Order: sequence, then C-alpha cells, then structure tokens
Amino acid sequence: MAVYFIIDRESEAVKIGRSKRPESRVATLSTGNPNPLELMGWLVSSDDSALEAALHRAYAHRRRHLEWFDIGTDEVLRELQRHSGFVPKHADAFEIASYDKDGVPEYVGVCKWADFEIDECCPFCGCMAGMYFNEAAWMYHCLACDTLTNFDELAYREGRADPND
Ligand SMILES: [Zn+2]
Repeated sequence: MAVYFIIDRESEAVKIGRSKRPESRVATLSTGNPNPLELMGWLVSSDDSALEAALHRAYAHRRRHLEWFDIGTDEVLRELQRHSGFVPKHADAFEIASYDKDGVPEYVGVCKWADFEIDECCPFCGCMAGMYFNEAAWMYHCLACDTLTNFDELAYREGRADPND
C-alpha cells in the first residue's frame, strides 16, 4: 500500500491517506466531492500504516477534519523528497522543452503541479529520488525503475506508457 497526498483544489486542503492504487483513489473520492481533486504524490513504505500515522501526527495541529489537513504544496514536496516518494507522471513527461547550459534536457514537466529537474525526479517513473549520473556508463540512472539512459533513446521511447512494460 501507498500513503498518498490528494489536494482539493477548491479548499486547498490535502488528504493524507492510504491506498493500494492512489491514482484510482482520486476517482473514488471525486464521486463524493464536488471540488476538483488531484493526486500530488505517494510514498511507498514497508509499514504504510505507521507512516500514515506519523504524518497525521506531524500535521495534527493543522488537521481540518478526518484525514484532511491544511498543509501546503511545499510541505507535501518535502515529504515526497524525504521519503523518495512518487509523483504522477504527465502523459507528455518525455517531451523536451529545452536544454540547459550543460546540455541537460529540461522536460515539459514530469508532473502537473511542480517543475522538477531530472536529478530531482525521474521522468520515467516519477520517483522523487531523481536520476543520478552514472559516470562509468556515462548515462543517467534511476534506482527506482532502473532506467539507464543518455536520453538519445527518448524518441524511441516516446509513446511507451511504461518503460517497464
Ligand atoms: Zn525512475
């Protein structure tokens, strides 16, 4: 199971809860909620109920009601980074918007609600541990999905929903 962060775009409240499939949880919650909901990300843990409880405790002073909290996107981002969590990928995450001065590609955006560099967030799986440069292979590597790439293959990879398929 994963611990997810779902934001209510109308009230700006963030729900911290647990689900096997966070992305379908949004749809379920949306049925009973007139406001637009968006999955910000999720954390994978061997003890997800303890992690959820720890987060509920940490933000207890800003609990709105039940599992909804007044926490900002900065704090959600910090939790995602601290626990090497995941953000939902954009369908066009691989589209390169530009290159920085070192020739590193900059994407349209891995996810909808924030901009990340590839060393902050893997564009292949959305892991907030990011990709690191493997000097021996001279390629970027993601420990979460094990993608190893120099980004020349991107054109080839485009259109593939899941690099693990
Ligand atoms: Zn990855």
